Amino acid sequence: MHFKKAIAAVLLACGLCCLPATAQKNLSNKKKAEIQIPRLHLESVPSLEKSGQALDTIPTSNPAIKIILYADYTWRYWREPSDILQSSVFSEYWDTSSPNPYQVALSDLPQRINIWVVDTLSHYRCPNKTKVYSKFGIRHRRRHQGVDLPLHNGDPVYAAFSGKVRISRYMRGYGNIVIIRHENGLETFYAHLSKRLVDSDDWVDAGQIIGLGGSTGRSTGAHLHFETRYQGYAFDPQWLIDFETGTLRHRLFVLQKKHLSANSRYVPESEEEEQEIYSGDTRDYAVADSVAAVRKAEEEKAAAEAAKAVYHTIKSGDNLSRLARKYGTSVKAICNLNAGMTPSSTLRIGKKIRVK
Ligand SMILES: [Zn+2]
Repeated sequence: MHFKKAIAAVLLACGLCCLPATAQKNLSNKKKAEIQIPRLHLESVPSLEKSGQALDTIPTSNPAIKIILYADYTWRYWREPSDILQSSVFSEYWDTSSPNPYQVALSDLPQRINIWVVDTLSHYRCPNKTKVYSKFGIRHRRRHQGVDLPLHNGDPVYAAFSGKVRISRYMRGYGNIVIIRHENGLETFYAHLSKRLVDSDDWVDAGQIIGLGGSTGRSTGAHLHFETRYQGYAFDPQWLIDFETGTLRHRLFVLQKKHLSANSRYVPESEEEEQEIYSGDTRDYAVADSVAAVRKAEEEKAAAEAAKAVYHTIKSGDNLSRLARKYGTSVKAICNLNAGMTPSSTLRIGKKIRVK
């Protein structure tokens, strides 16, 4: 630990120029976002559960990024999908019928690709939390490009990360399949669904239900066939996700070319992986520290806003002008504090609204 910190300090001493090219590129992309704050690499990410009712939205210095406050006083960042969709990732090699539109030669891919899987502006939910029933790799002399995760017919299947649906259709073999492309270039595949709940070109948020589990296509019982791909090449999803606990193993994932080979199965706690995590971690410290000041400012802003907020639970007979009088404010001010509220909005009894 101390050794790692020392390395981080050295990296910081010479500034961001020490970062590998990919990380630098990521950072400059994200400068547009201004408050892009990578989280530490080694911290695993728990699966997102329902966040409850959003009470309030606070603007940040970046018009595309807002802070959402929830009824339980937690908060998180939210970025406009229209802003994310401007990335060329969502227009290049965009094809709503072919599972692999890239046709990139393996030799054209770099040896290592640094992929930010989640950061403070993005989230993760385990698509289906369970023991892996059939692993990635060669199976009965056929290449198995993903993992099989048992579920019951009709169980919800969640989008692991936010992204744009590239494919939603029936295909031989896969059955009903949804393929989502993510901003970092990864694609996730969800196959054998009994029902698809999204269409091609739809935007989906991490944790959104995109379909229901089933056994369509080449399948002998209800299960989710889940794949992770980069540039059309599948790699073992277990490098990313521990399906049994539902946690995401990496925030920054160092995808190596050898992971893209048919038999590169996830090997837990190999020395090599430790090395990768270690080197990724030292880079994280450098990046994280360089933007820590911005994070602190945003957190303080959110905390200050949350501290002075006053909420009111709607009771029978309440209306906006009565509430405005009661709390010494105006109808307009209350509307401004509650996303989507207008002076003529109907107040649902039991709903919690912000009044100050
Ligand atoms: Zn499968």
